[in-house]
Formats: sequence, structure tokens, C-alpha cells
Amino acid sequence: MGNDILVLVEHHAGAVHDSAAELLGKARELAAATGGEALAVLLHDGSAASLASGLPADRVLSVEHEAFAHFLPEAYVLAMAGLMADRDPRLTLVANTTVGMDLAGSLSARTSAPLAAYCIGLEVEGDVVVATNQVFGGKLHAEVEMPGGIASVVAGAFPPAEGAGGATVESVGAPDGLGNLRMRFLARVEPETSDVDITAQDILISVGRGIGGDENIELAEDLAGALGGVVSASRPVADAGWLPKTRQVGKSGRKVKPKLYIACGISGAPEHLEGMRDADLIIAINTDENAPIFDVAHFGTTEDLFDVVPALTEALEAAASAA
Ligand code: FAD
Repeated sequence: MGNDILVLVEHHAGAVHDSAAELLGKARELAAATGGEALAVLLHDGSAASLASGLPADRVLSVEHEAFAHFLPEAYVLAMAGLMADRDPRLTLVANTTVGMDLAGSLSARTSAPLAAYCIGLEVEGDVVVATNQVFGGKLHAEVEMPGGIASVVAGAFPPAEGAGGATVESVGAPDGLGNLRMRFLARVEPETSDVDITAQDILISVGRGIGGDENIELAEDLAGALGGVVSASRPVADAGWLPKTRQVGKSGRKVKPKLYIACGISGAPEHLEGMRDADLIIAINTDENAPIFDVAHFGTTEDLFDVVPALTEALEAAASAA
């Protein structure tokens, strides 16, 4: 096994996903410490070839084939497994995104490389890699040791690589078998756009399961009205139909970056944090002092949201009418 670190670069519509800089930052750090290289893997159909030169890697492996026009797990597994066999990296990093989660398990099964999923920490210690992983939705962390393998990395776990571009770009031949894929990409289905666009808001009052039921959403609507914001939600709220799916923040919802995000009765599961942790100011209202939302909140209270939210609305309305 070599000392290189292979990183799958996610991209879409001509833009590199934020995860790439975070993964490559860690890859460069680990590779530099062990005498290897950080190898960015760009799978593309030709239209995204120009992205290669901007990647903060030691070397970019650019693999072009029409099968990479869209994400197809079967095609990506073939390519990544081939590169792992050829380059023999110590570690292969993928983001713990929908794409990465789809890919990592199959890649591990195909290559027999161990997989550390939901990874938030990675170190090389002597001959082993020590990975720290979130378990039980982030309520616990598990430390595991492996000789090398695959890690799917949670968003925000590592700081993005500084500097950009200048890496050597190496064209690598596409693997055999891409002409015989059993799965075919048909269409990209965009979500409904009839509701408000929560990604375009400066202020979000976000409600979680702690809000109790749709009859209480009004409390958040009132606070949003007083602040000039909009109500968004965690997944259970959208799944229950208390708010439309278009309001869902997180991995399988929208990624938001408002100036103010007030999380009311949201525990802060990794899938939720993935969608909002970059907000400028996060305020959490949660009765459980151990809730992970407090790890990312700038301010917080463990008071009951049914006390805090109406009191806040009332104070804001009083201040507005006094002005
Ligand atoms: P809970 O985890 O049940 O938390 C409720 C919180 O409310 C608790 O912390 C509790 O202390 C607090 N609370 C209760 N009553 C009060 C009160 N009166 N006052 C104050 N606080 C109170 N989740 C998302 O949000 N977005 C996603 O996009 C998403 N995608 C996912 C994708 C996948 C593949 C998977 C597996 C999961 C996904 N999830 C997503 C679900 C995620 O794992 C969590 O289950 C979910 O975020 C939990 O929602 P919650 O915080 O509202 O509920």
C-alpha cells in the first residue's frame, strides 16, 4: 500500500462541490506527513474538464467518458475501483453526501477495502489510519483503526484547502465496462418551485419535531413575521406534512446560508447540520443541553420553545410599535 490519498471530486453543472476543498485539504495534510500525494479524481464527460486545473491537489486524475455526464453509481464504482487498484492509495476519500453515501458502500464491497462512514476525524499513526466517526446521528463518536481503506467524510469536518490550482493534470483512460452499464440516466427532476425559496432568505425560523404538531407552526410564523423572515423545517416536520417539503433544510432538503437561523426544537442531526451550519448567526432553542445543535450554535437557550418563541415575538412586536 502506498501513501497517496485519493479524493473523489463531486461536481455539478460546471461547479465543484464545496466538499472537494475540505477533502483535499485533509488529503494534502495526510499525504505530506507520509510522503505521498493528494490525488483528486475528476470523472467527467468532457464538459467539466476545465475544472481540473483549479483543484487544490498535488495531482488531478482526469477520467473522461460520456458515462460520467451524470452521477451513476455503477459507472463511478467501476472508475474508482480501477483507480484504487492502479494507484494503491492508503486512503480513498469521498464526501458523506448523497453521492458519496451511494458510492462508498459499493466501492468497499467491490474492492474489499474497509469503510469508515460519517467520518469527522482522520489521522495516520504509524502504519494505521485512525478515523473518528459519528454514530447514532452524531450523538456518539466512534474511533476506529484500519490499515487504510475508504472514508466518507461529513461536511465541515475539515477546513478547506487553502490556495487553488496549479496541480499536474494527468489524463487517465476510462475503465472497461462503461459501455455495458445496467443503469441508464434518464432525467434530472427539479423540485417544485411554487413555494418560497428558503435558500434565498436572510432570516429563517426553523422548526423541528420539538414543535409538536402543525397546530403550533403558527408560533414560528409569528416570530418569522416579526423578524421579516420565513419558516423552514427539519425533515420530520416536512415528512409529517406540517410544512411543505420545499421548506426542508438539510442533506435531503435545501442547503441554506442565511444571516440568521433560529433552530426551534431541532436536535442537530448531521443530516440537518449539513444544510445550515454555514449560516452567519445560529441561535438554538432546545430543552436538551446535550443536543448537538449547540455544537454549531453561536447562542442558545435550554428554555422551552413554547415559552421563548412567543415571548420573543411579543418583545419584537412591542419594540416595533414603540419605534
Ligand atoms: P429530533 O431529533 O426528534 O429532535 C427534536 C428536538 O426538539 C430534541 O433535541 C428535543 O430536545 C427538542 N425539544 C422537544 N421539545 C422541545 C421544547 N418544548 N422546547 C425546546 N426544545 C424541544 N434531517 C433533516 O433535518 N434534514 C434533512 O435533509 C435530512 N436528511 C436525511 C437524509 C438521510 C439519508 C437520513 C438517514 C436522515 C436525514 N434526516 C434529515 C433526518 C435526521 O437524521 C434527523 O432524524 C432529523 O434531522 C431530526 O429532526 P429533529 O431535530 O426535528 O427531531
